[in-house]
Amino acid sequence: MEEKTPPYLSKDMTPNIENLTLIKGQKALVTGANSGIGMAVAIALGRAGADVCVNYYAGDAEADAVVEKIKSYGSQSFSYKANVSNEKEVMAMFDEMKKRFGTIDILVNNAGIQRDAPIDKMTIDQWNAVISTNLTSQFLCSREAIKEFKRRGVKPEISCAAGKIICMSSVHQMIPWAGHVNYAASKGGIHLLMMSLAQEVAPLKIRVNAIAPGAIKTHINENAWSTPDAYNSLLKLIPYKRIGMPDDIGRCAAWLASDLADYITGTTIFVDGGMTLFPGFATGG
Ligand code: BGC
Repeated sequence: MEEKTPPYLSKDMTPNIENLTLIKGQKALVTGANSGIGMAVAIALGRAGADVCVNYYAGDAEADAVVEKIKSYGSQSFSYKANVSNEKEVMAMFDEMKKRFGTIDILVNNAGIQRDAPIDKMTIDQWNAVISTNLTSQFLCSREAIKEFKRRGVKPEISCAAGKIICMSSVHQMIPWAGHVNYAASKGGIHLLMMSLAQEVAPLKIRVNAIAPGAIKTHINENAWSTPDAYNSLLKLIPYKRIGMPDDIGRCAAWLASDLADYITGTTIFVDGGMTLFPGFATGG
């Protein structure tokens, strides 16, 4: 069967990458979007032309500031407070999304926390908080997004896919992390949640992928970069010799959500300055 030239390619089959409003008019939801990586992703999607629902759990003023920033790019935005590990709250958030934006084209499952402790000190509350915020939330939000993608199908004037899901994972979906077993288990879970979902919904033209950030300068890992000693020892783990910035993830997410990344599904993009390259082996082994 003859395929038509997709909108992201010109007639001579060269990519239309000069157009930075890659996801113009698409409706996006980013969870945990009032700080850190989520904030950068929400802003990057807005900058690339998407209308964005900024989900958050605590911190109204920060959420409002993200909304204002997105509006300054000419995109629409609103904030929505919800606990994304709570089924009822997630369903209400998707209802509001449909009311305000009509539909959803892009879901970024970003919300995540750490509750670190050595195994013999880790409480069931610390375990449950991390698994439900990081992993259960991704199941709930993906389920609701896929229902809507399925109902609506492909709108070729919007995107060649019926919907896109980006799961925020971590290098710790593959690097074991002593003292953080709850976090590493949640990220390992995201890896196979993402791949299994991708396999299930690819025939519906829904793309599901993950981004695995390394050390990104945010509040969550402040103790790894806020003193010169800590920063120097962190750099030993990063061949590229700088800490990541939240927008390193934002730019990747905007591209991955766009039709420039069409045909990519079920994969994890590591944005980590080489942290997963076993840096110890550069001189050892
Ligand atoms: C964690 C950070 C950590 C980074 C690299 C991230 O997933 O949230 O605390 O600095 O992985 O180890």
